[in-house]
Amino acid sequence: MSYAIGLRCLSCRKAVSLSPFRYFCPHCGGFLDVEYDYEAMRRSLKPSAFDSSKGSILEQWLEFLPIESPGLIARVTLGESPTPMVRATRLPPSADTAQVWLKNDSHFPTCSLKDRSMPLTVLKALELGRNAVGIVSSGNASGSLAAYAARAGLRAVVFMGSKVASGKLYKTMVYRPLAIQVQAPYSEAETLFQRARDEFGFFDCNGLVNPYRIEGKKTFAYEVARDLHWRAPDAVFMPAGYGNGVVAAWKGFKELQRLGFIENLPAIIAVQPAVCAPIVHAYDRGLATVEAIAPADSIAEAVCVNDPVIGGQRVLEAVRESGGRAIGVGEGEIAQAVRILAEREGLAVEPTGAVALAGLLRLLEEGSRWSGGIQVASITGHGLNDPDAGGVLVRHPILVEADYGAVQRALRVALGGR
Ligand SMILES: [Zn+2]
Repeated sequence: MSYAIGLRCLSCRKAVSLSPFRYFCPHCGGFLDVEYDYEAMRRSLKPSAFDSSKGSILEQWLEFLPIESPGLIARVTLGESPTPMVRATRLPPSADTAQVWLKNDSHFPTCSLKDRSMPLTVLKALELGRNAVGIVSSGNASGSLAAYAARAGLRAVVFMGSKVASGKLYKTMVYRPLAIQVQAPYSEAETLFQRARDEFGFFDCNGLVNPYRIEGKKTFAYEVARDLHWRAPDAVFMPAGYGNGVVAAWKGFKELQRLGFIENLPAIIAVQPAVCAPIVHAYDRGLATVEAIAPADSIAEAVCVNDPVIGGQRVLEAVRESGGRAIGVGEGEIAQAVRILAEREGLAVEPTGAVALAGLLRLLEEGSRWSGGIQVASITGHGLNDPDAGGVLVRHPILVEADYGAVQRALRVALGGR
C-alpha cells in the first residue's frame, strides 16, 4: 500500500488531493509536492526490511513511493538495480583528507540517472490511463523516457533543442519516439512543448512540472544511506542544471531522518559549470530566488541551464537548509575530472557526470570544512552519452601499417626500450 496522502503546493502551502491528477496548484498555479503519512511509516518501516536484493528499485523502495498499483511495475521496469557506490582510491593527494565515494548512476539501463525517476513517472501514466508521454530534454531524459515508454507500450513524444550529443540522440531515436527537434534554444522548445501538451494531451514527464519525477529521484538518497550502512555522508556533491536531483536528494535524506533510519543529514553541495551558473550567482549574493542569465555553452551541456528560475529557488533552499553551498567549476576542472575518473578510477563518464567530482576536488583543494569525513559525488551519466566530448578528452590510437617493424617502432617510441 502507498503511504502517499496528498500533494502540497510549494507556493501557497495549501493541501491538494492526489486525484484528479493535476500538474499545478488549483488555488495559485504553484508546483506540487507529494506528501506521505510519515507517522504511519515511522511505526511500520524498519531499515532491515530494505535490503538490496529485492527486485528493481521501484520494488525495493515501494513504501517510499506514491505507487497505487504495484502490479504495474512489471510492465515498466527494465530491471533497474541499485547502482554501484565505489570508494575513490587514486584521486589527487589533496583529496586524501577525505573518504570519497563515487555513486555511479551511469550503470542504469539507459546509462544515466534519469532511470531513477522515469519508471515511476511512466507507471503513473499507466495508472492514470494515459496513452502518450512527453518530455523536453537535452538527451538523457528523452532516451530514458523513450525506453520506458517502449517497454510500457505507450507513445513517447520528445522535444529537443537544436544541440543534442550524438550518443544521446542515438539512445533516444533507437526506440522510435515521435521526436521534434526545435531549431531554438532549450527554453523556447519548452514553451512550444507546453502548448503542444495542452492541445494534444500527452502526460508531461518534465521534472519541474510532474511531481512524480522528484519522487523517483529520491531513491538516490535512500541508496547512498544504505550503502553507508544507514548513515548519511557528511556532504553530497551533485551537478545542478534545473536542480531536481538536488531537491530530490535533500527530500530523501530528510525523510530517512524523520523515519529514524539515519541520525545525521548531509550538507548538499550543488555544482554548476562556472560559465552557466545562475544558482551559484544567487547563492553567492544571498538572494532568495534565481535570476536568469545569458545563455552560454559548456562541455557539461546537460546542466548548462541559464534560467532555472523556479526550480532554482528550491535548490537554494535545499543547499542553505542543509548547510551546504553552491559552487561553479571551470571547463578545465570538468575536463580534468573526466580524465581522473577514466584514467585513475576506471570510469568512463560524460562531462556533465563529472561535474560533481570537479566541485569536490575544488573544495578539498581549498581545504574547506568538507576536507574531513565521508563525501559522496553523484556520477550521473556514462561517457558514451557524449562521445563528441572525446574530441578534447580522448586520445586517438597510433596508426601503423600491417608490418611488425612499424609496430615495434611505435611501441619503442611510446614505451621506451631497446
Ligand atoms: Zn498554491
